[in-house]
Amino acid sequence: MDKGETLSPISGRAYIRVETESAALSAVREGASVSLCGGLIPGWRREPRALLSFILRVLDGNHRQMVRQHLEYFLRFDFSCSTPQVGQFQRRLHEDPALMGYAAGSMIAAMREMADMWIDSGKSGTDRDVDTPADRNVEDDLHGRGYSLFQRIDRSLLRSYPRYTEMRRDGSLQIKDAYPKFDVDRLDGFWGLDEVMKAHGAKWAAFYFSRLLNSPDSRSISRCDYCKAYFAYQRARLRTVTHGVFCPACNGKASVKRTVISRAKRLDTAARAWIEWESKRQGTVQPEWVAEQVNKAHGTAFGRRWVSQNATEVQKRVEALRNAKG
Ligand SMILES: [Zn+2]
Repeated sequence: MDKGETLSPISGRAYIRVETESAALSAVREGASVSLCGGLIPGWRREPRALLSFILRVLDGNHRQMVRQHLEYFLRFDFSCSTPQVGQFQRRLHEDPALMGYAAGSMIAAMREMADMWIDSGKSGTDRDVDTPADRNVEDDLHGRGYSLFQRIDRSLLRSYPRYTEMRRDGSLQIKDAYPKFDVDRLDGFWGLDEVMKAHGAKWAAFYFSRLLNSPDSRSISRCDYCKAYFAYQRARLRTVTHGVFCPACNGKASVKRTVISRAKRLDTAARAWIEWESKRQGTVQPEWVAEQVNKAHGTAFGRRWVSQNATEVQKRVEALRNAKG
């Protein structure tokens, strides 16, 4: 049985559904509590995987204005019950547009840091081309940062993010999620206003990114090894990728890169076989034997011609191997 919604702790009545921002603001001023309709929030669209798509727009850096409008939108609710201190702060925000810019810039930077930490936690420590999204975790401390992704989110959001127990009309309880609020306590003068705004932007980034982590799309988000753009697979990839991750736009270049890598790997095998042949030369012709070893290792079908065509490259590697051995 549907128990219905919880009652607002402010009005003691059911939340009012609103369709426009001005209706929401006037309801809040009259002491009512509203439930925001998702389509009203700047940057949000009615689309499949709306959270993932919103986060990708924040990450790409071309939507700074959208991020700013999003933050301003919620600040209007945070400040709808004004105190003299809040009023003074609102005037500062109005006079100095750079302050909102700090918040927006910080939301984008924090979102990128968290996305990078999350994506990198699935990469092999020894070969950056090897990526296993199933291994991603928030516990590892990567690249000597001194903190994990969990600690990053905890510091920016979870510690200062109370969740309320609300009650329904029939008396049953429900833990209610809420949007992060502007931390008015930070206006006490200990923090510079730029720092206050940066912390506010980072808090929003942590809010959305922690929700992505808790969603089925957490392992779909990826970053292109070539152009560094963030993108999402239609489905989370289950298998390990060993030749790098590339966005749809770079996939063509990726196949060129892959060709270069596999050619280099074949030449390496040929050079090692070249040296090995010298200890077991009896009864075989060197280029033929070398081609055979390359075919065995890489599933190719080269003949001695391939070895002679690539003789210069193979010889260079033979020299390098001999020098390395001293
Ligand atoms: Zn790319």
